[in-house]
Amino acid sequence: MSRITIFEVGPRDGLQNEKQPVSLEDKLWFTRGLVQAGARELEIGAFVRAERVPQMADTDALYAALAGKTGGLGKARAWALVPNEKGLERAAAAGARNIAVFTAATDGFANANIGMTVRESLALYKTLIPQARKLGMRVRGYVSTAFGCPYEGKVAPAKALKVIDQLLKWDVEQVSVGDTIGVATPGDVTKLMGPLMKRVRGKAALKVAGHFHDTRGTALANALQALELGVTTLDSSAGGLGGCPYAPGATGNLATEDLVYLLHGMGLKTGFDLDALSTLSVEMSRRMNRALTSRYVAAWAAGRARAAAAKSAPKGSAP
Ligand code: MG
Repeated sequence: MSRITIFEVGPRDGLQNEKQPVSLEDKLWFTRGLVQAGARELEIGAFVRAERVPQMADTDALYAALAGKTGGLGKARAWALVPNEKGLERAAAAGARNIAVFTAATDGFANANIGMTVRESLALYKTLIPQARKLGMRVRGYVSTAFGCPYEGKVAPAKALKVIDQLLKWDVEQVSVGDTIGVATPGDVTKLMGPLMKRVRGKAALKVAGHFHDTRGTALANALQALELGVTTLDSSAGGLGGCPYAPGATGNLATEDLVYLLHGMGLKTGFDLDALSTLSVEMSRRMNRALTSRYVAAWAAGRARAAAAKSAPKGSAP
């Protein structure tokens, strides 16, 4: 294991809760910048009802602008959430090749997030996934609240595994296991993802991703634990942007910069240029008028400010 795939969720998970509309122009700039900084898997939008998630209303336009040789995606793959058949139609019309369906380990969260029970959502995806596959699309599955739920509390590993197993049985490229409210510790990661990775041994290990939130400061530790268990894809958001509107208190996606710094320090490859990525996140936060949670970016920006101050200080002045 020398290369880790970072699944960049900033343009979707990072922006979807922003109350102030982010312009299409800024979304495009951000997405293209992420590709230039090294992102190869990016979640850029959601084909959901605009009145439900207003920030994602222009996903179709975003795809149109990114299409073709000059769109700026290059070899990167753009993904978008699809909640139902209507969303699939929109995805197909927009030329989306990679979609994600999303459910949860708990009914409480599924009801709040998608207005269905877990069972109802799986019944829907049982037909939606083959439809998407027939259209030549790749499908990713999200299982939210895999460790804990804002409505139901701690989630037993067996309960989450049941949902993950069901998605894996269908023709999905990958299932992303989500700690939506950031309650897991590495021990919890082992209890759930240990048995899971035993089931998907070898190349099939690519079928599992970890999506950790840093709400209680455990996201990096959990990511590291997932790596130890054989996971090679981790979800993160540039600058640490985003959370989830239906998970109270769930601020803080794991920041891509913090993850990249850790992985590069361990001698693992990600393909990301950390300077380019940090520069991008700082500018994006300026455009959004929103503070970043990435610890790496904070240290990096402080270092840059010190260097700039030293450069502009008059020569020969008192220390
Ligand atoms: Mg997230």
